[in-house]
Amino acid sequence: MTASSTLQRVAVFGATGSIGASALDVIARHPQRLRVAVLAAGSQVEALLDLCQRHRPRHAVIAREDLFPALRDGLRERGLETEAHAGMAALDALAAGDACDTVVAAIVGAAGLSSTLAAARAGKRLLLANKESLVLAGELMTRAADAAGADIIPIDSEHNAIFQCLRSRQAKGDVRRIVLTASGGPFRGRRRTELADVTPAQAVAHPKWSMGPKISVDSATLMNKGLELIEAHHLFGLSGDRLGVLVHPQSLVHSLVEFVDGSTLAQLGLPDMRTALAVGLGWPDRIDSGVAGLDLLTQGRLDFEAPDMDAFPCLRLACGALDAGGTAPAILNAANEVAVSAFLQGKIRFLSIPALVEEALAALPAAPADSLEALLEADARARRITETTIAGHAARA
Ligand code: NAD
Ligand code: MG
Repeated sequence: MTASSTLQRVAVFGATGSIGASALDVIARHPQRLRVAVLAAGSQVEALLDLCQRHRPRHAVIAREDLFPALRDGLRERGLETEAHAGMAALDALAAGDACDTVVAAIVGAAGLSSTLAAARAGKRLLLANKESLVLAGELMTRAADAAGADIIPIDSEHNAIFQCLRSRQAKGDVRRIVLTASGGPFRGRRRTELADVTPAQAVAHPKWSMGPKISVDSATLMNKGLELIEAHHLFGLSGDRLGVLVHPQSLVHSLVEFVDGSTLAQLGLPDMRTALAVGLGWPDRIDSGVAGLDLLTQGRLDFEAPDMDAFPCLRLACGALDAGGTAPAILNAANEVAVSAFLQGKIRFLSIPALVEEALAALPAAPADSLEALLEADARARRITETTIAGHAARA
């Protein structure tokens, strides 16, 4: 049987999010080849029920356990045969169990680590959008995937571009360096002093990509590109000195790979995540994604510039964490998650995000990270420190 004639049963974790919607759009285009087997969301029961009605999965999971009755009763009221589950342990079990062959890991934040790791350990095809899990525990994740024979196909557009240029997840000796492109976010070109008063609404208004709120703020601070450097290090096995960042405001060149012979390969396309998801769902075949081709004549030009590390210190902090290794990326990621959430809730200002991440990194020196426990402990400590600092600010204000 060829790969294309096998029905692939897909679990979409983070189904109610931006990546989840793009994944379900591509899956629905290929009923002969792809089937939605599991849908999971954090807390939006109604949205999850709507998706169940449309895609008829065998299982549905709501991460928040107190919402189990709402999910169970909602499925029954709609006359659906989908089985209801709740809680993170159910997510892990379904990721690892017989119900699916492929897991789209599209939960936002470190909350996605456990189920992503469970899928990797079970040898599933892993379409990895949840970059925070790689930042937090990249070595454990890639080691688990390699040991179990799990194929990780990166969904982050830059890493998906690199994967396509390499036609694999391993950069071999013939790769000289990898360059991630960055849109520059909504505040590209502004000086640091011009960022003091920006609002959450301005920060999430990304010029090129439509994404969830957390990654949109990360794009505005350039932390997203920093997380992606760490992600690239784990996925492709290159040290930080062979990874670069180039700001490219049109977001049409999704990343570049330079080889030892002087060739540079790049992947280009319209900024629409369905292309990356179709690559992951179809690989090694190419399948329709619903995304139009790129008309360079209409687009006109491709511009490139260096990132501004002064205005956007998060990128510098992430580079430092990548160099320090050990628990440093876990601390960076956890402090950033807490800070971004506080910013979105209007509790702190935009420039407090890098300040809080820097404080957490200074308070918690990097230690070797040889176990999941050590990494989760570093994550928890960084969250506590950052929450305490934010509470202190609020008390003084
Ligand atoms: P989103 O906010 O739109 O969606 C997040 C999803 O995660 C939702 O379905 C939500 O219910 C679920 N979720 C949240 N907390 C959860 C929890 N504790 N347990 C279980 N589920 C939970 O986010 P998004 O933009 O789709 O991003 C998802 C991931 O993909 C992120 O890691 C992001 O960095 C990455 N990513 C996104 C894009 C993009 O274009 N949106 C591009 C590259 C990478
Ligand atoms: Mg990206």
